[in-house]
Amino acid sequence: MTNRVYRGQDIDVSFDAALCIHAAVCVKGLPEVFNTSRKPWILPDAAAADQVAAIVQQCPTGALRQGPGELRAGVPAERADRPTTIDARSNRPLIVRGDLVITTDDGPIETPRAALCRCGKTGNSPFCDLSHLKP
Ligand code: SF4
Repeated sequence: MTNRVYRGQDIDVSFDAALCIHAAVCVKGLPEVFNTSRKPWILPDAAAADQVAAIVQQCPTGALRQGPGELRAGVPAERADRPTTIDARSNRPLIVRGDLVITTDDGPIETPRAALCRCGKTGNSPFCDLSHLKP
């Protein structure tokens, strides 16, 4: 996993492009911060840190994460969902939220959110890469 870190005054945001399936929760939820037609596409200081944290935690894949900088005053820590939930509705990856440790060929990955491949076609196992949409 390769994270790029976008540092702000009050909150840092990391992004792993390999995990993003363009659900667009971020760009729709807080377009002043997340805007793919701009460089850098994430400006953590363009909204209040608690708003940024709330949108980051809605990213279904874990592509967006809080940190890795130290927590700053007034910024809530990211908390894993309890109980762990799995959204297994049809025609989409398995969306898992919780205190996850995912065993992969490259070792364990700890994350609070993941979109897992359910069709076996992914090139980024065990994560969804939208291969299920390809003919
Ligand atoms: S919310 Fe997450 S998965 Fe969706 S577009 Fe933003 S970074 Fe990508």
